[in-house]
Amino acid sequence: MDGPFVQTAPLMSYSARADSPIAFLDRDGVLNLGKAGYVNRPEEVELLSGAAQTVASLRKQGYLICVVTNQSPIARGLWGPERLELLHATVQEHLLEEHPDAHIDAFLTCPHRYEDRCSCRKPSPAMLHLGHHLLRGDASLVPSFSPALCPVDTPQVNWWGAKPIPPHPLDLMVGDRTSDMGAGWAYGARLFRVSKTIGLSQVHQRLLRDEDPGDEFQP
Ligand SMILES: [Mg+2]
Ligand SMILES: [Zn+2]
Repeated sequence: MDGPFVQTAPLMSYSARADSPIAFLDRDGVLNLGKAGYVNRPEEVELLSGAAQTVASLRKQGYLICVVTNQSPIARGLWGPERLELLHATVQEHLLEEHPDAHIDAFLTCPHRYEDRCSCRKPSPAMLHLGHHLLRGDASLVPSFSPALCPVDTPQVNWWGAKPIPPHPLDLMVGDRTSDMGAGWAYGARLFRVSKTIGLSQVHQRLLRDEDPGDEFQP
């Protein structure tokens, strides 16, 4: 199966943003409530309190926003890319209902299961590298929703070595799981771990402080 899936904002302008930091955000447990057995229908999308406000504040501070999410129900055959597109359109809609500036620049999704041994599932940093290339490079040829291949130049991860230097010193990753922190670490991002019942707003103030180095990675 191809992947990860790429969904970008329709009016996204790629130019003049090469200098912007990127906030990589996990979806379930960060933007919206996760559900046992996955979020399967648009009606099940329930934003976590304050998430829209935090996205808007990050944007105001100059961040691009890239959601990176593992959604194995696709490989499990529960539903397909059309449903994924609808779910993410719903997340975006709800965010904008709560705050007019809560725009997501790109949703990147690994559709695989652990046993598929793909290269994109977190804790692989591949989706973060793809987001970096999409949002900072010339991605004008990428259609708004497509299966994309992981960029070939995703560096090999040395989990026992030093944390890599990120493309931008302020790049950050927010997640509720160790796999999110692992992906962020392997990319070199500042790491912010949140509780899945509170989500993004838990670290609102910290994210806006450039001098906050983020959390230590604890595998
Ligand atoms: Mg999560
Ligand atoms: Zn994958």
